[in-house]
Amino acid sequence: MSDAELTQADIAALAGTVERPMQAFIGGKYVDSITGETFESVNPADRSVIATIASCGAIDVDAAVSASRAAFDSGVWSQSHPSVRKVVLKRLAELMDRDRVELAVLESLESGKPIRDCLNIDVPETARCIEWFAEGIDKIYDQSSPSGGQALGIIVREPIPVVAVVLPWNFPLMMLGWKIGPALAVGSSVIVKPAELTSMTALKVAALATEAGVPDGVFNVVPGLGENAGQAIGLHHGIGAVSFTGSTEVGRMFLRYSADTNLKRTVLECGGKNPCVVLSDAGDLAAVAAHAVNAAFWNMGQNCTANSRLIVSRSMKDELLEHVIAETRTWTTGHPFDPENLLGSMISDEQYDKVRGYVRTGLDGGATLAYEGAIGPNDGGYFIAPTIFDNVTPDMIIAQEEIFGPVMAVIAVDDDEHAIRVANDTSYGLQASLFTRDVARAHTVARRLQAGTVSVNSYSEGDITTPFGGFKQSGFGGRDKSIYAYDQYVEKKTVWFDLS
Ligand code: NAP
Ligand code: MG
Repeated sequence: MSDAELTQADIAALAGTVERPMQAFIGGKYVDSITGETFESVNPADRSVIATIASCGAIDVDAAVSASRAAFDSGVWSQSHPSVRKVVLKRLAELMDRDRVELAVLESLESGKPIRDCLNIDVPETARCIEWFAEGIDKIYDQSSPSGGQALGIIVREPIPVVAVVLPWNFPLMMLGWKIGPALAVGSSVIVKPAELTSMTALKVAALATEAGVPDGVFNVVPGLGENAGQAIGLHHGIGAVSFTGSTEVGRMFLRYSADTNLKRTVLECGGKNPCVVLSDAGDLAAVAAHAVNAAFWNMGQNCTANSRLIVSRSMKDELLEHVIAETRTWTTGHPFDPENLLGSMISDEQYDKVRGYVRTGLDGGATLAYEGAIGPNDGGYFIAPTIFDNVTPDMIIAQEEIFGPVMAVIAVDDDEHAIRVANDTSYGLQASLFTRDVARAHTVARRLQAGTVSVNSYSEGDITTPFGGFKQSGFGGRDKSIYAYDQYVEKKTVWFDLS
């Protein structure tokens, strides 16, 4: 049966039988946490407990660091030829393809994401991402310096021995791939701390990595709570770098952890309050609306590049809003296992309450509720349908704070200058979308938008070849994706030869 033929009943049956990895993965083996502590993982689409996961703390992180360091020092991975690492990591990508349905079901089960996205986007994109970083690693050259005939300076890149990746719950597999792809490729040993709400796919990938030939100790997963496992990683003297994706608030903590301990390299991908800017010559408004709706509501708006602000020329705001509402009607919300649904449940009760709170704030703040979608059949989970507010002003809370839910704020502006000012009026700067048919205008405005990625006439984060990261309080210290991602996990070393 092809993936496209899987029905809701098929997915539900698979969810019942799929193996659910619940132990930590340290030194090439599944192990309980040393204290035996666990925490429960809940399916947010029906509120049932689906797994009891090992809850790691400082002593487990210690064990993972020791295993990582021993593997690194042995040279079995760190000193292997890049083409060897390439072959192993490409095999990991193949194994993810082989087990794609299982991975997709686990991802949906734990996060409430629609199965169609897990099958068509999250799993295959993660496999392709790991493959891309594998393919690149034996094609990158080091450098020599322009030092004249009397000296030779070579600049080599050496893997940081032990790196940690701390992950969010909104794209558990994709964020894993963005980070372990380059980290493993350069030869580092890696410790993964998944979000407590979504541990199982990372734990499953750990076993696949071992099956692919990643040596024991090179790839470890320590599930656990942020304040335990996460903090222990941040404060560990044996970890040389942390690559983090999550909230700006916790990102700041990792900078403090680093400052208070060993000055570990710290790279942060944090939140966003991203604008979708529609200029007066945007052209086909139905096409613009399709992008704007995808930008706002994909993944239930639980997306750091969610375009939660639709900033549109006043002259055509009403017409665009009509198209946006028509398009949003097609974004059905309901049971994540129903392959027809584009939207599943929110990740948790906490996130559900937070987003509902923002909807109330929008109403209380004077915005106009222009549309609220319906919720289709489900098993009693944390569902919120797409919600659109009109007549939003830039100072309103819903126009300033990251909501991380399916809530769009429509803001009318007078001209390009006004649009740029409103778009940049936020402490974040992750992504912006821009719509205009005029190339010169597109270029001028794109260059003035304060964002790590600006997509023109589409909503996009680019592809695996383009760097991803934020300006302002959306990011710090480096970039995921593209050849620049390798830099997060290497030190540059100068070796100077005096030839005189
Ligand atoms: P978060 O709290 O920033 O969590 C990100 C990661 O950091 C998780 O693995 C988390 O572990 C860990 N962590 C939490 N507290 C920690 C601490 N004190 N020390 C060390 N590590 C810690 O994000 P969240 O709870 O998943 O979501 C909160 C908000 O962050 C969302 O509402 C959203 O606004 C934003 N967010 C942004 C992104 C993004 O991609 N930009 C992604 C997710 C969330 P636990 O899972 O165990 O808490
Ligand atoms: Mg937490």
